[in-house]
Amino acid sequence: MSSIEPIDLARASDAVELSRDAVVARSLDGRVLAWNPAAHALYGWPASEAIGRVFAELVETDVEGGIAAIEAALASGGRWEGQVTRRSVRAEARVLLVRAIARRGEILEIAQDVTEHHRQRTALERSERRYRNLFGAMAASFWELDFSKVGAMLRELTASGVRDLREHLTAHPETLRAMMRATRVLDVNDQTLVLFGRGDKDELLASVEPFWPDESNWVFLESLLAAIGGRSSYSQETKLRAIDGRELDVLFTACFPAETVARGKVVVGVVDITARKRAHDALERSEQRYRHLFHHMPLALWQLDARGTVGVFKGARAAGVKDLAESFDRDPDLLRQCLEGMVVREVNQPTMAMLGGREPQDFAGSVARFWKARPDTFRRAMEARYRGEPTFQEETQIDTLDGRVIDVLFAVARPGPASDPTVSLVGIVDISELVRARQQLARLQAEAAHAARVSMVGELTASIAHEVNQPLAAIALNAGAAMRWLGRPDPDLTEVRALLTRVHADAKRAGAVITRIREMVALRAPVRAEIALDAIVDDALLFLGHELRAQHVAVHREPTGARVLADRVLLQQVVVNLIANAVHAMASRPEGSRRITVRTELDDTRARMTIDDEGPGIPEADLDRIFDAFFTTKAQGMGMGLSICRSILELFDGKITATNRASGGASMAVTLPRAPL
Ligand code: ADP
Repeated sequence: MSSIEPIDLARASDAVELSRDAVVARSLDGRVLAWNPAAHALYGWPASEAIGRVFAELVETDVEGGIAAIEAALASGGRWEGQVTRRSVRAEARVLLVRAIARRGEILEIAQDVTEHHRQRTALERSERRYRNLFGAMAASFWELDFSKVGAMLRELTASGVRDLREHLTAHPETLRAMMRATRVLDVNDQTLVLFGRGDKDELLASVEPFWPDESNWVFLESLLAAIGGRSSYSQETKLRAIDGRELDVLFTACFPAETVARGKVVVGVVDITARKRAHDALERSEQRYRHLFHHMPLALWQLDARGTVGVFKGARAAGVKDLAESFDRDPDLLRQCLEGMVVREVNQPTMAMLGGREPQDFAGSVARFWKARPDTFRRAMEARYRGEPTFQEETQIDTLDGRVIDVLFAVARPGPASDPTVSLVGIVDISELVRARQQLARLQAEAAHAARVSMVGELTASIAHEVNQPLAAIALNAGAAMRWLGRPDPDLTEVRALLTRVHADAKRAGAVITRIREMVALRAPVRAEIALDAIVDDALLFLGHELRAQHVAVHREPTGARVLADRVLLQQVVVNLIANAVHAMASRPEGSRRITVRTELDDTRARMTIDDEGPGIPEADLDRIFDAFFTTKAQGMGMGLSICRSILELFDGKITATNRASGGASMAVTLPRAPL
């Protein structure tokens, strides 16, 4: 305190009066001794009221550590300086910078109003804190870089006559790399450590060079040029490298606010897009694969634009149409609208060969041209689409551009997202060969079945002759008797009528047998009709009746009235075959034990017929082979019977299986779709 000069009181008091800072003098017990106008303005009390009062009663002081801390500092060191907040009933709270000295039993203090400054600083601090938090917590990687040295390097280049920096630095990557080395990392956030580091933050606080693979040089260059070109930011997808050499696909963004750039600093944000990039690449690859497939698959593929048809559908939905089939029936023009509204956008190479086009443009336009022969298929495809089914497939025919009609398997799918119902993908497989082969096969099968039937009838001649002879003999007998009755002087017409009724019935029976035989030996295309399984068994037994009696085979029936969809004659052939096989199998059995059980059963969708015998059964090893053509264990056998049975049944979506019964005999089971009720 010795350095303090004595105060020139008169001048000091002028200065105090004029001071903008509040000056207050008070006694050690707190009574106000002096109070300048600035104190009046600050605390709201005029000097006249303040002087003589206790300061603490006029003004309340908030300070860190409490008033006592100030008092203690003044008592011990004679001085205190610090920031306080003061409130008085006469004025609003202010933040003050207070300097106080204790001297000669007085305390003199000067208070400077720093409220505004304080407010600004806290706001700044708060925003800085927010920014820091962001910097630290964001999922993005943030870097604070110092490129002040790079600025100097760039200036040097310009001074040495380089006009075009981009061109020069592209041609001299080593200079660019030197600039990277000169760019220092000041700070990074945690995410940067996660993405680029390996646990040690300090390791990253060096030059940025290790993080830039050569292929990304140009991005570094462009960001430099953006910064010196006065751009506020620069953003680019690029590759960066982690400290351990891993390459990352990132979105790199550098910000250049003028004030930080002036200080040679930039903030860089890096978002990892490796996952996104990978997904994108995968998508692109799959798209490429799809394109490749589209163009090179050996089947015709079309991409259709269904916008027009979608429009027609919208109209129908708005009108409350539930089932498009009804609308098609009612309005013949609707199908035409749908056809016109479906346009070919792209076709692949095989389409041209298949449908007789020379170049893809030949296919441009509506699909109507291709559905002249079979608009019904297109109609069904539309109905399916209207029902919301994502795919539709059918064997049908397509008109070619050069006027042919070919057999095809037509399939259409809507591969696009539900949000885009306008893209349809069509696949067309030329099945003309297949259809031809199938027709040929069917013809061959029909011929084989026919040949087998003819030979079967041949084998059964004795049995059949008996079936015909029996009614014929009865007819002869009854007709003779009738004639005798008529020859009497008083003919008993009642008796004659009875005899003739029997003749009539027998004639019909014989006629029926002949009709069945004629059907059996006729070669005709199969017809699918609804027939009773049990009636088929009746017919088969008609052919085999004599054989069964001759062989002493008893037939036990368990009918259910099951009805199926098949061809009557062909199914008869199957049953005759199976029963004949059963009879053959039991030939070596004692007469009393030869028995066949024919059962028919029904479930929800299928009808089933089983023919069980009491023969020796089928050796396990042969169970699968007995249906093969030419498989036989009989000296005179052809081995065609069961093979033909199987192909006949397949024609009607039926099946035949063989098993051995527990009791030893064989059990042959035939299943067919049941006729709708
Ligand atoms: P084929 O009667 O001319 O031999 P099939 O195709 O009708 O020709 O029968 C093939 C073979 O299946 C028969 O040779 C016989 O060995 C066996 N088989 C068929 N039905 C029976 C049966 N009910 N019991 C035992 N074996 C049978």
